[in-house]
Amino acid sequence: MKKIRKTNQKEKKLTLLGIIILIITATTTCTFLFLSSPKLEIEKSTLTFSYNEEIILPKYRAYAMNKDISNKVKIKSEVKKHKVGKYFVTYQIKTPTANLKKLVLVKIIDPKKPVITLKGEKEVFLCPNTTYQEDGFQAIDEYDGNITKKVRTKTEEDKIVYQVEDSSHNKTEVERKIYHEDKTPPTITLKGQNKIYLSINSTYQEPGYVVEDNCDKNINVDVSGEVNTKKLGSYTITYSATDSSNNNATITRTIEVINKPQNEKGTIYLTFDDGPSNTVTPKILNILKEKGIPATFFVINHDDSLNNLIKREYQEGHTVALHSYTHTYSIVYQSIDSYFNDLNQIRDKVYKITGEYSNIIRFPGGSSNTVSKRFNKGIMSNLVNEVNNKGFHYFDWNIDCGDGAGIKDANKIYNNVTTGLSPNRENVVLMHDFENNYGTLNALSEIIDYGIKEGYQFKKITMDTMEVHHRPNN
Ligand code: ZN
Repeated sequence: MKKIRKTNQKEKKLTLLGIIILIITATTTCTFLFLSSPKLEIEKSTLTFSYNEEIILPKYRAYAMNKDISNKVKIKSEVKKHKVGKYFVTYQIKTPTANLKKLVLVKIIDPKKPVITLKGEKEVFLCPNTTYQEDGFQAIDEYDGNITKKVRTKTEEDKIVYQVEDSSHNKTEVERKIYHEDKTPPTITLKGQNKIYLSINSTYQEPGYVVEDNCDKNINVDVSGEVNTKKLGSYTITYSATDSSNNNATITRTIEVINKPQNEKGTIYLTFDDGPSNTVTPKILNILKEKGIPATFFVINHDDSLNNLIKREYQEGHTVALHSYTHTYSIVYQSIDSYFNDLNQIRDKVYKITGEYSNIIRFPGGSSNTVSKRFNKGIMSNLVNEVNNKGFHYFDWNIDCGDGAGIKDANKIYNNVTTGLSPNRENVVLMHDFENNYGTLNALSEIIDYGIKEGYQFKKITMDTMEVHHRPNN
C-alpha cells in the first residue's frame, strides 16, 4: 500500500510540474507579447474634406511581436462633417503595460465662394451728372447662408464694385457698370388732333404740344412748317426736340385745308361697334335698308357662322371697318406690335369675307381710353401716330348713345343721340350691335327719322371723311 501511494504521489508531482511549466510557458509568451511595446501605423496624419463630404479615415495597422493586433485598436472621432473646423481622431491601443495613442488631424473646410446677385441692370445708363440709386443686391454663401450684410460696395467712376468674404475667407467680387450717357430721346405729345381739317379762309391756331425728357428739364421744341389757309391742300407742321445728349424726337401734324362742307345742316355717321351679332345685326340692317341709310360697322372677330352678316353689311353698301380681333385690352394694348397683330388679324378676316382691305379703324375704347395705360403707359400717344404713318384713318366719336356703358332704355338712347347732334359738323355717333342690344335696336328707327326731319345727311365713313379724334389720355 505504502509503495503504491508513493508511486501515486510521484505521478502527482510530475503532473503538477507539467502544469506549472505549461503555465509558465504561456505566461511568458503572453508577458512577452504584452511587454514588448505595440506599434501603430496610420497611413496619414492629416486629412482635409469639404463640409458634408463623406469622411474616409486613413488605414492603420497595429502589431506586437509580429502579431497583428489591429482589431484591438479603438478609434474615437470628434469630426462633425457639417461644420467647418479642425478635429482630431484618436487611435488607441491598450495593453497591460502600454497605452498607445495616435492622433489624426481632420480639417473640414468650405472651398466655395459666395455668390453675389445684382438686382436691376448690370449696365446702367444714367443721365449725366446724376448719381446711381442702388437697385439692391444679395450675397448667398452655400455654407454661411445669406451674407448680404457683409457686402462692401465701392463706387468708382464708371462702376460699382461689390465685394464679400465668407467665414472661410472665400472672396467674391462683382461689378455694375455705370454709364453716364442719356440714350432716351424726348417725347413730344401734341395737344389737339394730329390731323386737323380747316375750312378755307379760316385761321390756323397752333394747339400746342407737351415735351418731356428723362434727363433735361428745359427742352426747346422747334416748330416748322406753314399753313396757307387761303389755298386748298395738305400742310405739315413738324415738331422737333433735341436733348442735351443729342437725342432727337420729331413728330408731325397734318393740316388739311378743305372747302366748307356743302351740307350746312351737318352730317350723321351712325357707327356700330363690337358686332356682328345674330340677335340685333340683321334687324339693324333691315331698318337701314328700309330707310335707305348707310352706316359704318366696326367689327370684331366672332364665330365664323356670323361671317355672312359682315358680308351682308358690305353688300348692302355699308362700310365694314376694323375694330379689333380679340377686343381684349390686355392683348391689344400690350405693345405696338401686339396692337397691329390684333388689327391685322381682323383686317385679314374682313378681307377674306369682302375681298376688300379696310383702312378705317376704331381703337377698342377709343383713342382717349385710359384702360390701355394699365398694360402700356403712353401707348395711345404712339399708336395714333403709328396708325397714321401706316395709312389708317382712325375714328373716335363725338356722340355716345350710352349703350356701351350699359344703357338699355330706348328712350334714353334716343335722347342721348338727338340732343348730341350739332349742325355744321360731322356727327359721329357711337352705338353697338353686340348680342341682345335691343335698346339701341329699338331706338334706331326714330333716331333716323329725327335726323332726316332735321335736315341731316346720313353718310357712311370713307377714307375721305374728316376724322373725328379724341385726345390720347394716357
Ligand atoms: Zn368696342
